[in-house]
Amino acid sequence: MTSSCLFCKIVAGEIPAAIVAESEHCLAFRDIGPHAPTHVLIIPRKHVESLNQLDDPAIAAALFAMTREVAEQEGVAASGYRVAINTNADGNQTVFHLHLHLLGGRKMTWPPG
Ligand code: 5GP
Ligand code: ZN
Repeated sequence: MTSSCLFCKIVAGEIPAAIVAESEHCLAFRDIGPHAPTHVLIIPRKHVESLNQLDDPAIAAALFAMTREVAEQEGVAASGYRVAINTNADGNQTVFHLHLHLLGGRKMTWPPG
């Protein structure tokens, strides 16, 4: 737990969030400013600043497993979805606690902006 981190506060239950899945290593909750009908953030419970600091293969596996589980739960697994990990300045990362964006329920465009 990093006391100043917004997502650590969500993990600790200090800030409310619409949680959609929980496991030993991860938590999934709805993005407060959704960019698609389904926009869920999947995060490690442990504070990891960005993908650059992800060094635990068990957490990496758990993040992907939960992403697939939430895609099924949200009904977008078959229709399709996008997973994005914004990293540092050029990636437009704004919250420095690793999170996977799961976006679905509409046709995505490519390339991303
Ligand atoms: P980033 O730009 O770092 O990849 O994404 C951060 C995401 O966190 C944004 O999509 C933003 O809408 C979301 N977000 C920021 N603050 C909160 C919050 O307090 N609660 C929830 N559920 N999402 C948040
Ligand atoms: Zn954190």
